[in-house]
Amino acid sequence: MDENKENLLYFLDNKPYINITNACTNACVFCVRNQKEDVQGAKLWLDKDNITADDVIKQLEINKEKLKNSNEIVFCGYGEPLIKLNEVIEISKYIKENFPDLKIRINTNGHANAIHKKNTLPLLAPYIDSISISLNAQNEEMYNKISNPKINNAYEEVKRFIRACVEEKIPTTATIVSKVENYPVDESRCEIIAKSLGAKFRSREWIKNGY
Ligand code: SF4
Repeated sequence: MDENKENLLYFLDNKPYINITNACTNACVFCVRNQKEDVQGAKLWLDKDNITADDVIKQLEINKEKLKNSNEIVFCGYGEPLIKLNEVIEISKYIKENFPDLKIRINTNGHANAIHKKNTLPLLAPYIDSISISLNAQNEEMYNKISNPKINNAYEEVKRFIRACVEEKIPTTATIVSKVENYPVDESRCEIIAKSLGAKFRSREWIKNGY
């Protein structure tokens, strides 16, 4: 199969995103993966899930000129990027060496330290410029309803991960999706929690069948 045909790199409003896996340790009720196969026309379901760093780097090279006009690149896509920790590190190193002006952000569910059973942040901190972590809820009960996590104590893990990012001095934002039908999230309580962990807070309104 030809990895160049997979959308490992896609652009939304000219902003580049890296889509490295379809695997995730959550199954969020608002996940765009449940609703459609593409984001603004870019099909993000990967035909295979053993994408390598080199597969992504090839697509970065093909899009070199476009990337030179971008300020930031985001690991995001149709899955949890930090499941592929080693690949994210390798790709980030390549980006820093080849596109020194391109800032790197990771959008993550915050489960990485639980998945890899170690503190992953000292490995990531030298390469990434910011991290955005899905806090999603004001307590464990709501988190479990919204995110359907496949790991134990997921909500506590997410909060620990947020704090660990802050301690590693990575600019950190905790996020929620508001106005999801039937899942009333207490936005102000979430903001208090995010700030108590030392992170910034961002609430994004749910867009049905959108991003
Ligand atoms: S964490 Fe992200 S990719 Fe995973 S299910 Fe939730 S919204 Fe989807």
